[in-house]
Amino acid sequence: MSLTHTGGAPACRILAIETSCDETAAAVVADGRHVLSNRVASQIEIHRRFGGVYPEVASRQHVLAIQTVVEDALADASVAHVRDLDAIAVTHGPGLAGSLLVGVNLAKGLAFASGLPLVPVNHLEGHIYSNWLYTDTSPDIARKQRSSSASEQFPALILIVSGGHTELVLMEDHCRYRHLGATLDDAAGEAFDKVARLLELGYPGGPAIQAAAEAGDARRFHLPRPLMRPGRRTERQPDAQTSPPPAVLPVRGEHRFNFSFSGLKTAVLNLMRQLEREGTDARQKQTAADIAAAFQMAVVDVLVGKTADAANEFAVKQVCICGGVSANGLLRRTAEQHFAVMGLPLRCPPLFLCTDNAAMIGAAAYYRRSYSAARQRAPQDRAHRQPAEAGAHPTPRDQPIEPSARDLLALDVYASLPLVDTTGL
Ligand code: ADP
Ligand code: MG
Repeated sequence: MSLTHTGGAPACRILAIETSCDETAAAVVADGRHVLSNRVASQIEIHRRFGGVYPEVASRQHVLAIQTVVEDALADASVAHVRDLDAIAVTHGPGLAGSLLVGVNLAKGLAFASGLPLVPVNHLEGHIYSNWLYTDTSPDIARKQRSSSASEQFPALILIVSGGHTELVLMEDHCRYRHLGATLDDAAGEAFDKVARLLELGYPGGPAIQAAAEAGDARRFHLPRPLMRPGRRTERQPDAQTSPPPAVLPVRGEHRFNFSFSGLKTAVLNLMRQLEREGTDARQKQTAADIAAAFQMAVVDVLVGKTADAANEFAVKQVCICGGVSANGLLRRTAEQHFAVMGLPLRCPPLFLCTDNAAMIGAAAYYRRSYSAARQRAPQDRAHRQPAEAGAHPTPRDQPIEPSARDLLALDVYASLPLVDTTGL
């Protein structure tokens, strides 16, 4: 039996499973927004000695952890039996094949045994929906913001920045995306990881660079801002931890909304070699901190500069940043400052929902099932096809997928975000 929300409408509760990379995660989410439980078994300590994720080890570790993680997530949400839920959601791509397989197989088994619908979720769409989630302890303002109407929220500009992806996406409505740009080579998180490895700061690189940069002077070294051009001059604030609105603008032309971080990583390597030639140890604590700070500021200038340019171009109503790199303190502070000046609401997930988790998969599953069902029913009425937000629309249980689809649910290792037609942009 489903829980009852205030107001009497039964909540739609989804068990979500995420095993796309090196986090074994399960969560129960009500009505696509309320996190009832969220368990993540991280494999960071296991992969640390390899300096990155070891795929075979990751999938074996998922096998060992998944059952406990799911049981704990159900217990935390006071769910006595899987049958008491409304649907099961699982990440089916993009990700590591061996890792995805563990979550998908468990989800299929649970769906088959319980008779519940199974909802395959795109991992990137999951990251986007991390911005719609709240917990019991979230401030009232966050809950209210996450429940605002579609007309108040869209179009929204989404910046996905993770270990595997860096993408700018225009979200026109729930589950409707237009691709604006992406990285041409390394993802932002990948660049953090590689530069941390060069500087021997540890793994994962993002938090290690951020910690080192706190004691660093970002102005000691200058690093390039790839695919940006000089903009109006803005004086850096005396506090090196605060980046003012970037003094650089995106390049014009086809790469306006694209990114490139592999050259920035090479620039760090060249800087380190030059310092070594001059007799300076680039990995000495203060020098490494200064390089980390300069690198972090260069990445943030590019991310915020391109996001702001796109927000302006498409007259969006809000900006959402998500993915592991959205945990970065300088990125969050700079974006807050920049979008406040532009008068645009900014959403960043709470820190524990920035990196991979299953709650975001539960949220994405809820919106995708609800909105695709509503659109299928009323294709002729596109302007009014979206159901109202909280509770008033068909739940995944109302739209069960046929048993054959349960059997066919396949991995999609290289999946990209499901897009609408991008012509006319
Ligand atoms: P993916 O979905 O690509 O597997 P996640 O969304 O879990 O990855 O993000 C992991 C990435 O986020 C890693 O590259 C990590 O270095 C980066 N990251 C995590 N925290 C921070 C931080 N505070 N600053 C910058 N990068 C971070
Ligand atoms: Mg991720």
